[in-house]
This record gives sequence, structure tokens and C-alpha cells, in this order.
Amino acid sequence: MNAYINSVLENVKKKHSDEPEFVQTVEEVFSSIEPVIDAHPEYEKADLLNRMVEPERMFTFRVCWQDDNGGWHTNIGYRCQFNGAIGPYKGGLRFQANVCPSIIKFLGFEQTFKNALTGLPMGGGKGGSDFDPAGKSDAEILRFCQSYMTALYRYIGPDIDVPAGDMGVGGREIGYLFGQYRRLKGTYEPGVLTGKGQTYGGSLIRPEATGFGAVYYLNEVLAHEKETISGKTIACAGFGNVTWGIAKKAAQLGAKVVTLSGPDGYIYDPDGVVTPEKIDYLVEMRASGRNRVQDYADKFGVEFHAGEKPWGVKADIIMPSAMQNDVKMESAEKIAANGVKYYIEVANMPTTNDALAFLMKQPGMIVAPSKAVNAGGVGVSGLEMSQNSERLRWTSEEVDEQLHRMMKTIHDMSAEAAAEYGLGYNLVAGANIAGFKKVAEAMMEQGVF
Ligand code: GLU
Repeated sequence: MNAYINSVLENVKKKHSDEPEFVQTVEEVFSSIEPVIDAHPEYEKADLLNRMVEPERMFTFRVCWQDDNGGWHTNIGYRCQFNGAIGPYKGGLRFQANVCPSIIKFLGFEQTFKNALTGLPMGGGKGGSDFDPAGKSDAEILRFCQSYMTALYRYIGPDIDVPAGDMGVGGREIGYLFGQYRRLKGTYEPGVLTGKGQTYGGSLIRPEATGFGAVYYLNEVLAHEKETISGKTIACAGFGNVTWGIAKKAAQLGAKVVTLSGPDGYIYDPDGVVTPEKIDYLVEMRASGRNRVQDYADKFGVEFHAGEKPWGVKADIIMPSAMQNDVKMESAEKIAANGVKYYIEVANMPTTNDALAFLMKQPGMIVAPSKAVNAGGVGVSGLEMSQNSERLRWTSEEVDEQLHRMMKTIHDMSAEAAAEYGLGYNLVAGANIAGFKKVAEAMMEQGVF
């Protein structure tokens, strides 16, 4: 590897030895950018990489809230404004017990390049809290969100930083956060958050966008291989918003999602999550707060495998759509042994770096990276911001068409970036290169800082 990249990587490893996810994502991005660094000696001269791995700003805040029995709880709130070179910081909020600086930073770093790939003016940010929403009442969620926004509202705004949802933060939470922001600011600024409800400035198709976008991207990959999606089986993970969107779009196109997973294990439904009843049930399961996928098996009479991951199931396409590091070496080996041709990452960094490198080496296997595949979610958030600032509202068809076009462009741009550096049809390297180049150029033109 290029000596400069190596030295920055060593620096990151030393400085952030207690932040494994962050180190992992930096290593992953840096593994692709050597040809760009070689072609641009001015980047090393300006020490661009050391600047790029340091968030512009990151802060924590106290979030204190009262439970239904009058007991008090204190959580840590985070916001990381990672890189604002190409637009206001943009990225979701994650509420999950394991949220820590490493997770927020890895998500913020990924978001920076992902947002660049959308072609829209959005910088990278991420936030959240170690608050665990599981089993909390609606009133507890409301009080938590109000307290969270009370601490955060001074530091965000439509042209400053625009949070949205991520794991544990959906339409309900965005509503409560927006209500509190409006109350505190005394102005109506819908562009401060995305993923809003339809009655107060939300964009049509935003709930579906990540899953739909992932399937549109998959379609481009299949077209490249002269195949179509119809009749294909897809192994997914999770059962949240993203997996719901994939199941819905796949069913429309004649394919079927055959696995779902949760913290309790995975289900295998050979008929597919294809009927409206099954697809809607995912939303119901998520809303129940039980966080159990076994409920699906009980309701529809399919297999449930306690404590296991679905990666041993033979399917045409693998789409890990649950969370980071869900696919480790042992699962990757099973996927390769099954002769799977399409490994399409969806969740942010769902594959460990060794497993990803292993899968990319499998002859005939095509690997697509999450920062490109799931970019439709934040892409439609960008469209929501445009609609809010222009005070207009596009139809579902208009948004869906723009999403479709965006995903095709991201795929083509990535393929071209890899081809330009003689890397062949390497979508992982291509996405890293295309995203990196855009952010790098913007930083250089602005005097780096
Ligand atoms: N949390 C989502 C992501 O990982 C969406 C972010 C957004 O819409 O701002 O990209």
C-alpha cells in the first residue's frame, strides 16, 4: 500500500485503538483509494487524509428522562458532524443500547462518502444515543425524544445539520423530535429533519426508499450480468424498515425474500415474504417493540432457527440488511460454499473486512457495497429537503423515478470509477473511489481545513 495511506492508517489505529468499528471503516475505504492518492500528490502535500479522518465536530450531551413509574434515567446523546464540504451535515440518529463513539464515528465516516455518491449537496453526519427503545412505552419514547431535542436543537438546522432516522428511530420518533424542535425554536422549519410524516412535510416514498433503492441497485447489477430479478430468491436479515422495503419491491418484481432475522434467530419462508399480509406483518412486528422474529414463524407456520444467522441458506442473492458486522468469516465461508453469485450489502458495514475481502476474491461472485446500495434512503431524504425548501410536494411516481435514476447513476458511476483505474467491475472499490474523489476535491477547493 502507498506509504502515505499506510502512515495515516497507522495513526488512526494508534489514536483510536478503543474504536474498532471506526478503524474498520477507515481501513475499508482506504483499501480502495491508492490509485487516487498516487495520481494526486497534492493530497499528501496538504495531508488531506489526516484531515478527512478527523470529524469536523463531535459532541455528547446529557439526555435525562423519566420513566412511567417516576424513575429517572440518564443517557448519553451524540452528534457527529463529520464532514461538511459538500453540504449541510446529513445523517440519521440511532437509538440503541450499544451506541458509543466508535459506532457513531464509523457511521458518520461512511455517511460522508455515501452522501457524496447521491450527487446531492449533503455532508456527512450521524448521531444517536445509548438509549434502548425496546419495551419502552409511547410516553417514555416521547419524553426521551423531547429531552434529546432540547439538548440538540441549538446545533442543527436546515442549512446546518439535518438528522433523520436510523435503527430505533422511525416516523414516530422523528415526529416527537420535530414537535419539540418547533416548540423550542418558535419557527416552522421542516427542513431540519427528514423522514417526517406525510402531514407535515415528509416526502412520499421516504419510508420505502432504502429498500426500494437497494433493489433498484441490484437490478443494475443483474442487468450488467444479463440476468433479471424475476424468480430469484433473496436471503435478507433484520425485519425493520429496510428489509420491509426490499421485500415489498422484490415481490412487485417477481422475486422473493426467503429469510428474515432478529436478535433471537432467523426464519426461513420458502414461499417468500411476498403477500401483503406478510409484508405488512413486518411493520407490525417492529412496532410491537418485542424485537423477536420468531413471531413471524409462529404466525405463518414457517421454520424458525433460534440463535442462528440466515447465511447458510441457499439463495440466489444475499442482502445483509440488519446491522454492522453481521457477516463474519464463518458466514462468508458458508455463502461462498453455497455458490452464491450476488452479495449485495445493505446495512451500514454489514461485513467484517476480512469476510468482505474473502467474498470479493470468490470467482464469479459480485459484491456490492452498502454505502452505494443503501444510499437511496438518504438520497430521498435529500429530495425531502429540496421539497421543503421549495415548498412543494412531488408525487410518489416523481420521487420513485428520481430514486430509480439516482440508484442507476450510483451504480454506473461506481463501475466507471473502478474501470478508470483498471480495476474491472469492482463496485466496492468504485464506490469508495467515486465518493472519496468528490469529497477530496471539495475539501481541496475550499482550502482543505
Ligand atoms: N440512517 C440512514 C442512513 O444510514 C438515513 C440517513 C438520512 O436519511 O439522513 O443512510
